Amino acid sequence: MSVKEIFTAAYGAEPAGVWAAPGRVNLIGEHTDYNDGFVLPFALPQRTLAAAGPSPDDRWHVCSTLIPEPVSFGTTAPGEVTGWGAYVAGVVWALQEAGFEVPTARIAIDSDVPLGSGLSSSAALESAVLTALIDLGGLDLPLEKRPALAQRAENVYVGAPTGIMDQSASIRCQDGKALFLDCRSYEVEQIPFDLAAEGLAILVINSNAPHQHVDGEYGARRKSCEEAAALLGVPALRDVATADLPAALERLGDDVLVRRTRHIVTENQRVLDTVALLRDGRVREVGPLLTASHASMRDDFEITVAQVDVAVEASLAAGAYGARMTGGGFGGCVLALVDADRADATAAAVAGAYAERGFTAPTSWVAVAGPGAARI
Ligand code: ADP
Ligand code: MG
Repeated sequence: MSVKEIFTAAYGAEPAGVWAAPGRVNLIGEHTDYNDGFVLPFALPQRTLAAAGPSPDDRWHVCSTLIPEPVSFGTTAPGEVTGWGAYVAGVVWALQEAGFEVPTARIAIDSDVPLGSGLSSSAALESAVLTALIDLGGLDLPLEKRPALAQRAENVYVGAPTGIMDQSASIRCQDGKALFLDCRSYEVEQIPFDLAAEGLAILVINSNAPHQHVDGEYGARRKSCEEAAALLGVPALRDVATADLPAALERLGDDVLVRRTRHIVTENQRVLDTVALLRDGRVREVGPLLTASHASMRDDFEITVAQVDVAVEASLAAGAYGARMTGGGFGGCVLALVDADRADATAAAVAGAYAERGFTAPTSWVAVAGPGAARI
């Protein structure tokens, strides 16, 4: 069934339109967003669809093919709607709080973004709903201001303390481009990212590892970064220059804060180095930066698990130019930069390494940079 048909089956009417917002993979720049730093995501072909139309009453009605329980709510505040509906109610709330008159609506959601795999299904859901409501209501909210509003829905209404990257990627990415985002100024540069032309591919490997302690560990990393920035007397770790890192680490002393800080400062530099190489068309040379990013996440930021470490090692052993975990960590996905004609063999090598260790089998596919949120 198409999402239009799902809408009609649920509400007995035709939707006014269908909107789509993608999931994303982050090429490089992990946990840098909430440190006011740099990230470089691109949009996945996997996306969340929202068929939407006016509501016959003064409430919003939402259903999803992925969740049995539909949700219905009136004018709302954080804490009222919980579970998956909070991502939708949060968007309505954030729009209203920003002063917009949000039209009540009926919405049907369908998605092929895997939930909870670090590919940002939450931001895809928020961005699809946000874009639909903006268009339905004719609201005047420019593209560059939309991610912060969707982030507010997730931070305040859902209660997940995530950075600005996911919503920025889902809303601002463009077809065939990677999004170089400054998470302090929200300035972006669209970096051409056509790997096929170079005979290359990004293989995404979903570790299918169960996520554990994600929220608590994420909050703990955020807190350490804030603590380190405060001790160093800077607004955010973005303000520690690479050249000043050794002195900063000496000042911090504390082993955990040293390692967290070293990850963020070196990771920001790796994003800048990656962007410089991509601008020069030197794509293969990005590989070692990806692998260094992974080592930094594994050893300094301590956010990887055995399944993602094994996927990275197996990809490299199979000849990948570089590989790293992508997303917040504690499971989720790995990406590997490979020769396009080696993608299948790399996926098979990772599957083999998983089988040897008795891990749940991974799922792999080649990801091509797609467009951001829009009416379709
Ligand atoms: P990620 O964003 O990495 O996929 P999150 O834990 O941030 O993982 O978000 C996943 C949650 O978002 C799901 O548990 C669900 O509550 C909600 N969600 C995302 N997509 C959908 C969808 N298509 N239908 C219903 N809920 C969804
Ligand atoms: Mg998410």
